[in-house]
Amino acid sequence: MKNRREFLCAAAGAAAVAGIPEMFGAATKYDLVVKGGRVIDPSRKLDAIRDVAISQGRIAAISENITTAAAESIDARGKLVVPGLIDIHTHAARTKESAGLCLADGVTGLIDAGSQGADRIAETIAVAREAPQPCRVLINIGRAGILTEGDTMDLSRADVAAAREAIGRNREMIVGIKARLSRDVAGSNDFEVLRRAQEVASGFGIPVMIHMGQTMSPLSKLMPLLKSGDIVTHMFAPPPNSIIDDNGRILPEVLAARRRGVRFDLGNGRTGHLRWDIAESVLKAGFLPDTFSTDWTAEGRADQVINFPNVMSKFLMLNMPLSQVIACATINASHAFPVFRAAGTLKVGARADLAVLELREGSFEFVDNFGNKRMGRQKLFPSATVLAGKQVANHTA
Ligand SMILES: [Zn+2]
Repeated sequence: MKNRREFLCAAAGAAAVAGIPEMFGAATKYDLVVKGGRVIDPSRKLDAIRDVAISQGRIAAISENITTAAAESIDARGKLVVPGLIDIHTHAARTKESAGLCLADGVTGLIDAGSQGADRIAETIAVAREAPQPCRVLINIGRAGILTEGDTMDLSRADVAAAREAIGRNREMIVGIKARLSRDVAGSNDFEVLRRAQEVASGFGIPVMIHMGQTMSPLSKLMPLLKSGDIVTHMFAPPPNSIIDDNGRILPEVLAARRRGVRFDLGNGRTGHLRWDIAESVLKAGFLPDTFSTDWTAEGRADQVINFPNVMSKFLMLNMPLSQVIACATINASHAFPVFRAAGTLKVGARADLAVLELREGSFEFVDNFGNKRMGRQKLFPSATVLAGKQVANHTA
């Protein structure tokens, strides 16, 4: 069945043959067609070989064989075509070149999660504004940002007034608050730091993202402070204070948090956040992640994180179905922040943000944050990225 655009195009062709002046001219041509890929769009439960046509920066048509002329095309045969990836926990606004590197990996939406606090938030905002893809920041409740001695070990750094003032000046760019709560970051201040983060958030109606794992306070004490729309990152962190107990049961406070709309996020990172046995137990308990994120840093490109498709591949290894893995990096992530609300989908009319990925079969080694190695049979590799209808990167790896 022809969609409207193809129908118009066919009509224009017939008109030309009949000697009637071409009515639609160049407008009937697509700007870009991504040909022959396996299109997986969990937002529409689509998993099929399709062509994707793009016009004026938007998805114009998805169908089995688009023959209309296109100015450009991408041969996606043998590859996956998915909505552009959305990474809700990165540190990509630390340096200018980071966002572009993520874009080449298929990431068309980014959050810098708490690299800076009120004192230097202007620096991350300036970098985020220059990113090629939509990029927003979370402000660290610790006013000096990430500190090796611990962001809020000195409780006076969890400065409500300073954070409020910074958000007030940058409403469009600061979309939430980051509270890092591990014992080496907040020590015994964890509960009070989170309480203050919520005090800041409540005035603006924005989410708090907590960095869990090895907190002083048990999650049974911290979870009740989280509201609908808040995000728990590093959900697979090992004890002390995991989301799962020694008997393989998800804590009741964690289940209650999910029921009231708190989101649970991977946050891969490199230190203390991901251990295979915990991830396995949590998945086995039926508690699936809402979102994946990389906790991306320049150092992570060479160590453990590598890129977003690599992080996603770890969960193929842990036997999550491919469509679910893609959902965690696309449609699910789009719900986390309003800036991404219309993204994470390939529906006709949506902004044309696409990731073309290669799913290779073979034997691939993955490592958790504790040096434990596991072998997987499949691995995703970035192949091409389309941002707002334009092909921006093409890997040959
Ligand atoms: Zn982080």
